[in-house]
Parts: sequence; C-alpha cells; structure tokens
Amino acid sequence: MSPTVAVLATGGTIASTGGAGEATPTEDADALVEAVPELGEVADVESEEVARVPSFELTFETVFDLAERAREVASEVDGVVVTHGTDTMEESAYLLDLVGEYAAPVVFTGAQRAADETGADGPTNLLSAVRAAVHGAFTEGVYVAFNEEIHAARAVTKAHTSKLEAFESPEEGPVATLTRERIRLHREPGSETPTIPVEGISAAVEVVNSGLGVGATPLERALESGADGIVLSATGLGNTTQELGDAITSVVDRGIPVVVASRCHAGTTEGVYATAGGGATLEEHGAILVGDLRPHKARLKLLCALSRADDPEEVRALLEVGR
Ligand code: ASP
Repeated sequence: MSPTVAVLATGGTIASTGGAGEATPTEDADALVEAVPELGEVADVESEEVARVPSFELTFETVFDLAERAREVASEVDGVVVTHGTDTMEESAYLLDLVGEYAAPVVFTGAQRAADETGADGPTNLLSAVRAAVHGAFTEGVYVAFNEEIHAARAVTKAHTSKLEAFESPEEGPVATLTRERIRLHREPGSETPTIPVEGISAAVEVVNSGLGVGATPLERALESGADGIVLSATGLGNTTQELGDAITSVVDRGIPVVVASRCHAGTTEGVYATAGGGATLEEHGAILVGDLRPHKARLKLLCALSRADDPEEVRALLEVGR
C-alpha cells in the first residue's frame, strides 16, 4: 500500500501564474498536485485548500486554522505537506512547531518562480516535500523542503529574495539533502521547539530595532500603542545604544517583558558588555536573551507566551525553554 500525504495549500508563488510583476495565486490545491504526476510514484496524495493568498498577507487566524487542520489530518495520513508563500514560510512553519504536536511530519514548501515561468521550481519542491513527508526519518516536527534541502522550522530563514536557493539554516545547515534516489540525512531530524499550546494570539508585541544612534522613541511609541511585550532586534551579541538600553531597563522594571534577539544572520546572544546598552546590563536588569532565535521568530514566541500566561515568571520560563 502506498503511503498517504495530505497537501494543505495556502497560496504563494507555487500557486501563481502571471510571472514577474503580476503574480497572484490562481492555482487551486488540486492543480498543484496534478501538475506533478511523479507524486503518484511516491504517495497517494490528497489535497485541500486552506487559503489562497501570498504569505505576506496571511493572518494569524488563518495560520492557526492551518495548524488545527494539520493536527487533524496528521492523525489520518503518513505525512502533511503545506504549500505556502516564501516570504513568511519560516514564521508559519515555526509557529506551527511552537503551538502543537502532530502525529505525522509537517513539511512546508513553495516556489520562487510562478507555475508558468520557465524553470518553475514549485513542482520539484512539492515532490521533495512529499518525499520527505513519507521518508520515515522525519517522524515529528515541522520542516521546510526547498531547493533539494530539508530544513528545521526553528533554524530556517529566507536568505535571498529571488534566487532558487532561497532558504538557509545559517547556524546548523539543512537537516537533509535530497538526491534523485534518496534523502541524505545530515543529522537526526526532530523538533527541538518547545510547545506553547495556544489556539490564537491574544497579546500585542512590538519589535524595536536597534542600530547606530537609535534613541528611545521607537520603544516609547511601541508602549504607547499598547504593547504587552517588546522584542529588541539588537546588534551583535544582544546590545543596543545607551539611550535605548536605559529605556529598556526601566521598561523591564515595570514588569513588561523585553526579549533580546540579535539582528545578525547567525550566532547566539550573550551578555558580554556591561555598559548601559550592553547585553550583560540588559540581562542583569531582567531582559531575556533568546540565544540564536532571530527577532521575527522571537516575536512569535513572545506572542505565544503572552497569550498563554499572565504571570511574568511563567512568561519568562516559556521563553527560556529551548533557547
Ligand atoms: N513571496 C511571495 C509570498 O510570500 C510569493 C511566494 O514566494 O510564494 O507569498
């Protein structure tokens, strides 16, 4: 008996025709699957449409619907594949990993070129995702299959706006590489993302960008707008300017969680510098340094933590697990 895969389609370039300049998702889930006859040699594939939008226009509501649907179908099939726009793929994949556990692997994929463009990459990527979903080694967790590589949801990032090799896992590299015949595992797959079981987002988090000469105004504006928590997109090891550093320590003193993530492409945060804007000072005052989690994923984690818990210590504990 062939293994079974459910394809949940959300839109993006893989479902678009029109090519550069006017690509809008027009292809439904069935059309995506029908365009790749080789899928039938790998698995029995069922498809359904959850949404048909570019990923930069997806809402939390739709992504939580997707998570729920993935959870439901995962108990009925051997693998789940999600087709998704590339812009926010790493966020949706990480969010699904963060909020739930799935009885089968969940593999996201998409395309850089529209379905009717020469050299469209969607069909190959979809085939890769289905192959990974039924491979057997990816027993749990959420992944991104792209350009003949499989990446872990927590580690992966869109590193190029247009090239076919759009995704990288800068710290650890891909979990696996696909060849024509097989999938070469580079390490043991599996989710290291702790679960924060929430069914939606009920908190507001703002990301404040640090950089040369940045003052406290962006932080003040974020708080005026009603933010329940702040992510500092910090420089280097987790540092900011003196002025913003002073403002952050007073915000933390007021009980508002501030999470410090590095804006660098790779590497971890570390409290090394003890000046007003240094990571050591921020940490000493209670800001939470989140290691190698990038700011946009730290935002999702803080949103989930604040949606789950009110107590500041509980929020901190949720953020510190799996740093
Ligand atoms: N970048 C667009 C999006 O995120 C299209 C795509 O890459 O699929 O939807």
